[in-house]
Amino acid sequence: MIKPNQSTAPLLEVRALSVDYGLKGVSFRAIEDMSFALRAGEAVALVGESGSGKTTTAMSIAGLLPPNARVSSGEVRYRGRRLPIDDDAAMRPHRWSEISVVFQGAMNALNPVHRVVKQIAEPCMLKLGMTREKANGLARELLELVGIPADRGSAFPHELSGGMRQRVMIAMALACRPPIIIGDEPTTALDVITQAQILTLLGKLRSQLNLALILITHDLSVVAETCDRAMIMYAGRIVEEGTVADIFSEPKHPYTKLLIESIPNPATGKKILRPIPGDPPTILNRPSGCAFRSRCSFAMHVCTTDDPRLDPTGRGQVACHLHRSLTQEQKVAAHA
Ligand code: SF4
Repeated sequence: MIKPNQSTAPLLEVRALSVDYGLKGVSFRAIEDMSFALRAGEAVALVGESGSGKTTTAMSIAGLLPPNARVSSGEVRYRGRRLPIDDDAAMRPHRWSEISVVFQGAMNALNPVHRVVKQIAEPCMLKLGMTREKANGLARELLELVGIPADRGSAFPHELSGGMRQRVMIAMALACRPPIIIGDEPTTALDVITQAQILTLLGKLRSQLNLALILITHDLSVVAETCDRAMIMYAGRIVEEGTVADIFSEPKHPYTKLLIESIPNPATGKKILRPIPGDPPTILNRPSGCAFRSRCSFAMHVCTTDDPRLDPTGRGQVACHLHRSLTQEQKVAAHA
């Protein structure tokens, strides 16, 4: 695994970011108080079930929130400069040249009526001011870089396999040489073999180009293969953060433990996929106290009233009353 240089200043800082969605005139909090930093060459995962806020976090960073969403507080900084993430036009110079996004479902993201070489060349012409000829040349080089023969550039998206289309998306994301790539479930729609190939490709590009990667996924096994650090998200908040090694060897939050238990592990002979009981809350019905309490077998009285904040655990952070340093008196009250 590539070791990012922890002594260097972060490329990207997300500081106390909160985002609301407006639905029928009412505001609902989608993500709350998100903070993290990303360094050059580092791969960080945002992990959680659907609706946990991971895609909203990523779209906020790229300034791609839908019209009914707004950044209610916090900021995102790139190399120390505040990004205009709530202004689509002002974000355009930053997108693709500083931060690129690889979306899931390449067939929906690619234009079906244009040849793929043209689609990769387009941002090079717009952002880098290249001539068509130079941009086409770079697009062919990028196709080779992601493992597609350059002559396949004349194909239309429907003439390529799902894995090849996803490679084209990665080539497009790399076109303006951004130091940060956000992968929004980039392998979800693919079979396991193609998924492994795409993850290997991302790892290879990361080391070749010193890319920083934010990987959004619901799949912890993908995180284990690809990332240095992971942030586990639940109901719009980070509930645990740490190195991937620590999170797998010593998960602290009950949700993280269940996520890990839910994946098959051939090393331990566990082949059965064990689902997490119950459903996560939506942004419309977030409960009081800990949002995970209806699914948590360790829930205490305090979990119904107090929302646990993210506290340091030594090398990581966790938001759970089980790990808070309660006084003896508070512990008795917690279980009452
Ligand atoms: Fe479970 Fe309480 Fe911890 Fe929430 S705060 S995860 S309900 S023990």
